[in-house]
Amino acid sequence: MLFIVKENHDISSLLEKIRMASASYKVVDIYGKRIVIAWPDNLVENIEDISIDAKIRVRKPYYLVSNEWKSGKTIVNVGGVEIGGSRIVVAAGPCAVEDEDILMEIAKAVKRAGASILRGGAYKPRTSPYSFQGLGEKGLKILKRVSEAVGLPVVTEVMDTRDVELVKSYADMIQIGARNSQNFTLLREVGRAKIPVLLKRGFGMTVEEWLLAAEYILSEGNGDVVLCERGIRTFEKSTRFTIDIGGMVIAKMQTHLPIAADPSHPAGNRDLVEPLALAAIVAGADMLIVEVHANPSKALSDSEQQLTVEMFEKLMKRLKAVAEAIGRSI
Ligand code: PEP
Ligand code: MN
Repeated sequence: MLFIVKENHDISSLLEKIRMASASYKVVDIYGKRIVIAWPDNLVENIEDISIDAKIRVRKPYYLVSNEWKSGKTIVNVGGVEIGGSRIVVAAGPCAVEDEDILMEIAKAVKRAGASILRGGAYKPRTSPYSFQGLGEKGLKILKRVSEAVGLPVVTEVMDTRDVELVKSYADMIQIGARNSQNFTLLREVGRAKIPVLLKRGFGMTVEEWLLAAEYILSEGNGDVVLCERGIRTFEKSTRFTIDIGGMVIAKMQTHLPIAADPSHPAGNRDLVEPLALAAIVAGADMLIVEVHANPSKALSDSEQQLTVEMFEKLMKRLKAVAEAIGRSI
């Protein structure tokens, strides 16, 4: 049950009534409101209090993420770029930050082609401990310099709670990768960090589990979350992962949060990225995050799926045409 508190009202008597009912609660300040979440519903449904503006029984287990209580879409502002409005936002850049000159070249090219956020990993979640692991803080410094020189805000992954504050000091948006999307300690930490979060869907997660992962972040008072579909594991081996467009649409129907799609990781092959990107925006994605490299065959990670600059330019042209056809812009 969500108790939306009247502005500047004392909640001590409400909390006392919840305790007397033997229910649990959490007080969250989010979207300019104070909300008391109390559960289970059956113990608190008859509670009334002078401090309550509205009492909403959300039927989904992800209370704050659900659109049952919040009217209108949430817009997430990343360094001045609004995600969740009618304009589709494209983030682009290499899988990993490898070198300042290469990143500068890629950043200028993707900006020229119409991207409005720069992506690049400094901490890379690699399957093998012997693969390139990313440049760490050095990579963050490179990202920041390039971001400022080119004028694009940055999204980059954090893998460890110990690095959240550091990454926050360099980035405009933090990415939680597929492999960490049920690392609940990390989710709470980025919730407390109050920085926009791009939450990838784990490749073994149901849509409900993905939305509950977002609930961990919101329940710490951070409402700036974008949910990103990036493909799930199925029996199909011809693609790297199976992009779940249906699941992405279901997620969008359940939440007020913006939805993104990553067409690169499910493709695993650069020729497949464009059709998946087009499909995702037709299905309602508010944002795309695409891997682009100046020389993909030399890339230190995900070289098969990174687009060349020329391919990205072509993709942007086609995205613009499709966006227009569905009444949106890029
Ligand atoms: C990435 O964006 O480079 C990445 C590792 O993504 P995911 O966590 O979705 O595999
Ligand atoms: Mn990658």
